[in-house]
Amino acid sequence: MNKKQEKTCNGYEAMFTFLSEEDFQKHLRECESCSKEHEKMQKISALIQEAKPYIKEKQKQSKIVKSVAACFVIAFATLSIPIYMAGVNVYDNLVAQNALTAQELGLPVDEYGLLYVE
Ligand SMILES: [Zn+2]
Repeated sequence: MNKKQEKTCNGYEAMFTFLSEEDFQKHLRECESCSKEHEKMQKISALIQEAKPYIKEKQKQSKIVKSVAACFVIAFATLSIPIYMAGVNVYDNLVAQNALTAQELGLPVDEYGLLYVE
């Protein structure tokens, strides 16, 4: 029996690949090592089936995170330019308003509005 088994079994992968579903099931009943291997595969397959929705959910989440991140980058790039320009304008205005001329400071000036030193 054992010797016959060894002769007919070419290993689980080979049997799984080359036998028809019917012959494969028959072989599993006859071959201990293949039936053990098949049990393992069934467990792995069940695990994969179980994990599938979780993996899909993960992929969906990472897609959402990525698109939100992309939106932020685009929004920031779009908004930061006018904000930067406005910032420059505000700074210019503040400096222009606060920079008093020598005349405004009550200092002696010449006809050109420049500081007059005797
Ligand atoms: Zn086998």
